[in-house]
Amino acid sequence: MKTIIKNGTIITATDIYKADILIEKGVIKEIADCISFTSDENVTIFDAGGQYIFPGGIDVHTHLDGPLRESGNADDFVSGTRAAAAGGITSIVNFTNPKKGQTLIDNLQEWKQHAESSLIDYGFHPIVCGYHDNVLEELPQLAEQGISSIKIFMTNKGDMALNDQELYRILKKAGDSGIITSVHAENGYIIDELIDESLSKGDTDPIFHAYTRPTVTEAEATNRVLAIAETANAPVYIVHISCADALEQVIQAKKRGVQAFGETCPHYLALDETYLRLPEFEGAKYVCSPPLREKWNQEYLWKGIADGSISVVGSDHCPFQFDGQKTVGRNNFSKIPYGIPQIEDNFSIVYHYGVHEGRISLQKFVEIMSTNPAKIFGLYPKKGSIAVGFDADIVIFDPNGSKTLSANSQYQNVDYNLYEGTVVQGKITRVLSRGEEIVRDGKVIGEHGRGQFLFRKKQSTLKAEPEITYI
Ligand SMILES: [Zn+2]
Repeated sequence: MKTIIKNGTIITATDIYKADILIEKGVIKEIADCISFTSDENVTIFDAGGQYIFPGGIDVHTHLDGPLRESGNADDFVSGTRAAAAGGITSIVNFTNPKKGQTLIDNLQEWKQHAESSLIDYGFHPIVCGYHDNVLEELPQLAEQGISSIKIFMTNKGDMALNDQELYRILKKAGDSGIITSVHAENGYIIDELIDESLSKGDTDPIFHAYTRPTVTEAEATNRVLAIAETANAPVYIVHISCADALEQVIQAKKRGVQAFGETCPHYLALDETYLRLPEFEGAKYVCSPPLREKWNQEYLWKGIADGSISVVGSDHCPFQFDGQKTVGRNNFSKIPYGIPQIEDNFSIVYHYGVHEGRISLQKFVEIMSTNPAKIFGLYPKKGSIAVGFDADIVIFDPNGSKTLSANSQYQNVDYNLYEGTVVQGKITRVLSRGEEIVRDGKVIGEHGRGQFLFRKKQSTLKAEPEITYI
């Protein structure tokens, strides 16, 4: 069975050109000016005239099936990966949620079972929840099992937050094991004090979620963990950079030669803290951590993407229903579960505000949505580009089309959409995953359960840009 995509414009992180693509057995077999076929061949033809052909999005920041706090979040691997596919994402790397006392290896096995219902390919970043010596012993074992990244927190005191000694030990051992460490960098100890002060004054509305997590608490933690990574000579990936102050720390660390990578999320690029003031408690829909920031930060983040200081845009998809979950915090913002729905609109939002509005090039779009995540997280050269030998994970995209973002038409299993009514330029017409058409005319047609576990390569050195080598 062959598939040929004809007449499209291929976009990679470095090139734009018109060519046909031949797919066989789920892999890109040939790219050429004109690929011919005979009428008696069993071949599927997609005419992509006038359309862009992107490599499938790789979202390395998702929390499907994540029971955070007491209530589970809204999307599991069935609904979440359908939403992802509809939004042009063909691979995810999802966070696991550890149970107290469970080993990382046992936790990984459990999450592999959770993900068997996935529509698209998936890997995991195990969250290291609390420090104990066994963690260090387990890191090399994780690397052998295709896990080339972990996640740690500097927030959530008593639950997850690690102190500087623990951060150092884990970063060092992970780096020595070929694993990159993702870090949630906010100073949770100070934030907890600010929350207590705010509540004691009766300041309980959603906007105080932002005021009690000021940018300095993010920048301080970012700077500190970058210094620790520098000391440990280990690679580090700063997730969800929300503001200019934190970005500046990454820029300075890169200048010093730290193996540092920055990620931001679409909501920090497209939304700002005024959304937290929406009436009728609707601000709670926009509570995430770090919080949405003052609008002027957005242009710094875009500039960071354009100049390479930020390598990746991940969705941080962690949805909760407004009704019944977000509303728990009606009289106390600190009880609002933080996390927002984003996996389905990530690709569209970044394309619209980035490419369509002229802030980044098409090639840069591919680099941050697909190529860099593949390189940093051990999926390259299998995923992350359109070239011979790569998996045929492909998004066919009509730049002249448009899409209205809305809770009524989304696959995300949540009762609101962050961008309700926003019309974005461009429309995904088809999505292929390993050559199989899983989305057609915006409708998901792939079956859940077809996704495969992504065994990711461990990494010997991770230079900040651009070449990455593997053990
Ligand atoms: Zn997250």
